[in-house]
Amino acid sequence: MKQNPLKIAYSHSLTFTLPMKLPTITIRFAPLIILIILAACIPPTSTNELIEFDGERAFKDLEYQVSLGPRVIGSDAHQKVREWIIETNDELGWETEYQSHFISGQEVHNIISKRGENSDSPWIIIGAHYDSRSNADNDPNVENHNQPVLGANDGASGVAVLMELARVIPKNISGRIWLVYFDAEDYGNLPLFSDWAVGSQAFVNSLEGEPDAVVVVDMIGDADLNIFMERYSNRELNEEIWEIAASLGYENQFIPQPKWNIIDDHLPFVRAGIPAIDIIDFDYPYWHTVEDTLDKVSPESLQIVGDVVLTWLVSRTSQNP
Ligand SMILES: [Zn+2]
Repeated sequence: MKQNPLKIAYSHSLTFTLPMKLPTITIRFAPLIILIILAACIPPTSTNELIEFDGERAFKDLEYQVSLGPRVIGSDAHQKVREWIIETNDELGWETEYQSHFISGQEVHNIISKRGENSDSPWIIIGAHYDSRSNADNDPNVENHNQPVLGANDGASGVAVLMELARVIPKNISGRIWLVYFDAEDYGNLPLFSDWAVGSQAFVNSLEGEPDAVVVVDMIGDADLNIFMERYSNRELNEEIWEIAASLGYENQFIPQPKWNIIDDHLPFVRAGIPAIDIIDFDYPYWHTVEDTLDKVSPESLQIVGDVVLTWLVSRTSQNP
């Protein structure tokens, strides 16, 4: 831990010999006066030292989403989670926009929280989906296939990481940062949309300009965390992120090998030629089952992923002031 410069200044001040002529009151408060003068002279700590991702606090956001029930499109829970995301990001000083698209007779709502709109570069998007799947059609019990997925991991974990990032990313960060909460990711092979990543596709279709990097987080709360490099993802960006994970001592959770091909919210960006990756732990036996519940996820996993994404974000923005 770094020593506090104010404490050093205070202890040094005790060794000073004060002139006898000074009134007693000044002598008594001399250490305090010196401390105030020194505090005024010390430059503000750089933003990089102030920020720290809190996995426990992120986990509370995950628990809140789960407490609403499945965030299935058209449900009260889906509307409530959307309102909560908008309100919270707004209160945290993010310029928060609501983007609506009418797709297959259904309204789809993406939420975009922006910071640093006046900066030229870099332009970074961090994304996650907030909807949860209406059908647990991967459940071993066929009778559960019409039940909704609670989505403690698939949905809530990614949003929890973004919400904590919204708290800790400094207001004066250099670069243009967007946190995007996608709707309608999880409806592939279902009558409502029949396709995956519908919200992010609509977002990319309406995007003006090209972001420098897009990082999607999905299903990253698994207590048994093992994230392989997703194969559709941009290779350089994958390597950049996995190197950061290794430097933080997370090589057992961020395994530097490609494994799955996943259709997720990064894919519309990849198809549009934008460097994008999906940070996803697809080795999760409860995927699209009724067992995707709170007991399968952990604050430690959110901490690991949050640390990696935040450290990467800081490194990217400090390289491009
Ligand atoms: Zn899913």
